[in-house]
Amino acid sequence: KQVTGERPVALVTGASSGFGMLTAIALAEAGYHVVATMRALYKNGELLERAAAAGVSERMEYAELDVTRPDQIEGVVSGVIAQYGRIDALVNNAGYAVMGMVEEVPMSDWRAQLETNFFGTLALTKTVVPHMRGRRSGTIVNVSSGAGRMGFPNTGAYSASKFAVEGFSEALRFELLPFGVRVVLIEPGTFNTGIAAKHVYHEAEDSPYAPMIRSFRSFNEKAESKGNDPAIVARTIVRAVQSRKPRVRYV
Ligand code: NDP
Repeated sequence: KQVTGERPVALVTGASSGFGMLTAIALAEAGYHVVATMRALYKNGELLERAAAAGVSERMEYAELDVTRPDQIEGVVSGVIAQYGRIDALVNNAGYAVMGMVEEVPMSDWRAQLETNFFGTLALTKTVVPHMRGRRSGTIVNVSSGAGRMGFPNTGAYSASKFAVEGFSEALRFELLPFGVRVVLIEPGTFNTGIAAKHVYHEAEDSPYAPMIRSFRSFNEKAESKGNDPAIVARTIVRAVQSRKPRVRYV
């Protein structure tokens, strides 16, 4: 079963860009065999280049995984277990943000937001937990957000999805402690990744909330233009995976 030698195995979701891509490389550099997953495999071009530049191509493999697809979750996890017999680190990073006032975001977008950010994270976690518990070892890193601890105008759906991630993660941390499996929450502030371009917006000019939306957006844009380096988050995730302590990390 064991073809990675002594290398521990890490599975990362949403590795086509942003934190996920940087975390996949950073984990390979730290000595992990990395299964970098993304919902469209053709988007792995930049990751392939970065892996080659870092000299870690042989420690990387790529799999298609949309976290809203139970068949793909089952297929990827059972494939990794069949091949390597272990998953030492699971990084639940895949996510996006719906922007809009509570009243104005359609129910379908609330549901879609929860479907990816919360249910996707939950479903993959539930599939991996029995393997980690069985080996009495492993770390689950759930990428939440500052918005997983505080609500802000225009981000109610996103916040709700991340609060849900925080809630089940804290319960799971207690459940798995006796089995030697750690659950870590990462709560980044605002970083310039690909995420802003993928926001789903509900921001009508004639909205009664328009002045508040404008002022909140300009606050957000200022924060984004500070250009915080997303590599900080990747390094924090690697430290969290390597640490022996169950805890929350603020970035
Ligand atoms: P990116 O948009 O760069 O990366 C998000 C990744 O998630 C992409 O690879 C995207 O894939 C993937 N993704 C989206 N939906 C799915 C899905 N259904 N199945 C699998 N993958 C999916 O943004 P970030 O790197 O910034 O975001 C990563 C995580 O960090 C998210 O959970 C986000 O909420 C969180 N975060 C980000 C902050 C920031 O300021 N950037 C702050 C706090 C938290 P695709 O390329 O196909 O769209």
